[in-house]
Amino acid sequence: MSRHKTPREWPVPNAFIAASFAAKRPAKCGAGFRRRVAYAISPSVKMRRRNLSPYRSIVASMRSISVASIPIPIIFVVMTLPQPSGEFEWTQESWGAAVRCRPLDAVARHCFSTRDLALEGVLAAPAPAWASLARAFDVPLDSVVRKHKVHCADVFQADKANGASWPEADIAVTDDPAVALSVRTADCVPILLADRRGGAVAAIHAGWKGTAAGAAIVAVQSLTSRYGTKPEDVIAAVGPSIGPCCYEVGSELAGHFSSHPEAPTWFSQDETPHLDLWRASRDQLARAGVPHSQIHVCALCTFDHPALFHSYRRDGKSAGRLVAAIKSAAGKTP
Ligand SMILES: [Zn+2]
Repeated sequence: MSRHKTPREWPVPNAFIAASFAAKRPAKCGAGFRRRVAYAISPSVKMRRRNLSPYRSIVASMRSISVASIPIPIIFVVMTLPQPSGEFEWTQESWGAAVRCRPLDAVARHCFSTRDLALEGVLAAPAPAWASLARAFDVPLDSVVRKHKVHCADVFQADKANGASWPEADIAVTDDPAVALSVRTADCVPILLADRRGGAVAAIHAGWKGTAAGAAIVAVQSLTSRYGTKPEDVIAAVGPSIGPCCYEVGSELAGHFSSHPEAPTWFSQDETPHLDLWRASRDQLARAGVPHSQIHVCALCTFDHPALFHSYRRDGKSAGRLVAAIKSAAGKTP
């Protein structure tokens, strides 16, 4: 037996340890112990008793772990932001973190919000969050165009006069720099477009129904028919939304996409198909004539990042909404 080992017949008094911790000071061996060894005959016997004493081992160990010297774990909560795809970057808006697309930023003021912009209670206008958004885009609150999504491909043409209305449409277009277009999403795909020459912009809400209806194609065509935009001048940004990693769908859904020749590549071929709305958006924009090099997909999955994004599929009916917003820049070169 090691001489430091506590003798079995003399158990460690746990209450003694607890009391010393409660008192927030190192335990001291009381006078009673000293009295008990006061009758030791020789120094060697005294030493042997001390070495065998459980109190000695307790005191020694308590000295080394006195409350003052217990290292208090300091937990640093460092939130590492997931990396968006190459052309996107994190930015700091007045309300918190947001994502922007660099090539689109050079053409039009825009952003994709995170949970930092608290839009719970979305219909309670004018909510403070909407006012924050209006200020960030330097427009009056009633010039932020907000839409009731209807999961289709209807187009709303916005200008200063009708900004305050909440039209039922999934696409809004304008060339008026006095209004900001917005779309609200929670898993659905927000797509922002800007004409780098004419300055017209579009905001698209594309869930699976909007995608099946070709919302991205309709939006580009709408910019062309209303503002003379050439598709080759369009810069497109596809924002955070549910990714093919998490968007499991029923096998019957593919039937709704029969009008799109690329659709078979948007569904994974496994037993439980997953729909790739990012790829669908990219393909549709390309089919509308937007050059591949000008289509940018953020590739951040809303389902995967609960601290950053709302997700209807993950959070259900209580899910808040993310906002994507864009404003036309005045004075673009014709
Ligand atoms: Zn995912």
